[in-house]
Amino acid sequence: MTDLLFPLPQPFSLPVQGQTARYPLFRIFCVGRNYAAHAAEMGQEVDREAPFYFTKSVAHAVGSGTTQPYPSRTDNYHFEMEFAVTLGAEAWQLSEDRAMEAVHGYCCALDMTRRDLQGQAKDRGRPWDTGKDVEGSAVFGPVTAAAAFGPIDGQRIRLSVNGAVRQDGTLAELIHSVPAIIADLSGLYHLRPGDVIMTGTPAGVGPVRPGDVLEGSVDGLDPVHLTIGEPA
Ligand code: MN
Repeated sequence: MTDLLFPLPQPFSLPVQGQTARYPLFRIFCVGRNYAAHAAEMGQEVDREAPFYFTKSVAHAVGSGTTQPYPSRTDNYHFEMEFAVTLGAEAWQLSEDRAMEAVHGYCCALDMTRRDLQGQAKDRGRPWDTGKDVEGSAVFGPVTAAAAFGPIDGQRIRLSVNGAVRQDGTLAELIHSVPAIIADLSGLYHLRPGDVIMTGTPAGVGPVRPGDVLEGSVDGLDPVHLTIGEPA
């Protein structure tokens, strides 16, 4: 055992459907503007040439079903419902043809965002970190193995707030496909098991308030739930 000056939390992990062993997270990569209708509602052009990314800390990941406090320094905390991919193999400079070999499974995820701080960062040409890498802002449902999920072929992706549907799209709308994202990202990072990719959000993002109950779903996956608590 290494002698450490102070203890750190155990690695964050997710339950896997039909298995007792859990899926431990190593890194969280997020794709920006991967649905045309969402890019349009943000007043942005879509880049069909190549995806772009930001990251969230695994320290800021939480499982489905928790209550997370409304974060500080924002008056516009937004939900973004996403289809997430869990990797199960190393991947470096993979071709798109072979990219799916690195996939372990899929889960529902929420990319919660301080939209006001993200907007200020965009305007000033600054990094998005305080808008995107928010404590408790990476919310993940249970993982389903890729073989059990089957091919990605237009499953419905939805998010409701207090029972009212706010986002309703399909995975057929993804501008950059899952294999295209993995192939591209594997040219930037030595991907490995434990890496998770949030693939972007459909149109309909919006603000939450304390007391709101969010439910996100993708056909064939367990849903993700989040309750917004009072400000910390
Ligand atoms: Mn997002």
